[in-house]
Amino acid sequence: MRRDWIVKQPHAWEATVPVIDSKWRRVELVAMDLFCGDITLALYRADEEDGPVGLVHSYSPRSEAAERAAFLAEAMRVLGGLEAVVGADARLVRFPCGTWHSLAARRLFLETAKHDPSEPLAARLLEVPDTRSEQTIRIESLGEGSYAVSADGATDETPSRAPAIAAALARLAELSLEEGGEVVAFPCGHAHDALVALLLKQAQNLRSALREEEMKASRGVLVAPSAQE
Ligand SMILES: [Zn+2]
Repeated sequence: MRRDWIVKQPHAWEATVPVIDSKWRRVELVAMDLFCGDITLALYRADEEDGPVGLVHSYSPRSEAAERAAFLAEAMRVLGGLEAVVGADARLVRFPCGTWHSLAARRLFLETAKHDPSEPLAARLLEVPDTRSEQTIRIESLGEGSYAVSADGATDETPSRAPAIAAALARLAELSLEEGGEVVAFPCGHAHDALVALLLKQAQNLRSALREEEMKASRGVLVAPSAQE
């Protein structure tokens, strides 16, 4: 429906759409936002002189779209420990380490889009009950970007879930898995506590996290026209 309209009136559409500079590369997409009238939102990245920067942007001409994008950027800061770009657009984010964790940034963006805006934003905990066992999963920062995963309550029947969770974290965020299999490390050598806590939930259900990714990939051809570059 909308596609037809765009084809018939390309100039009218272009005039109302907030276009961004071509330096931005889209890295992740929410095709239909549940909390803001099904608008399309995307995370973009650009490499600036002082390091990589992310931008949450919507091509939707709806008046609330920019506000929604700014909220997602704020959610990425609270839930993922990202930083604002001082004195700049509220929709910009950067990693405090000055590098860019590609897979983690994408997962963080998708997770923030699922956050019900009527609920307060708060960083998640590094200690959670396991979803598959009676164990408690605990993550401890060892400094320099390394994190040890441990599990309380392992028994002979249900061995520690720590190695599986550590391996899942490594896979979900491109972390290195250290010898012994219960320590993961960010390649930048900096701490990312909030980000690890956010990814812990997905790591506990790795299969469903990966399935979601596959479904997104297979739907890639069906994204809204406003999201296409
Ligand atoms: Zn880092």
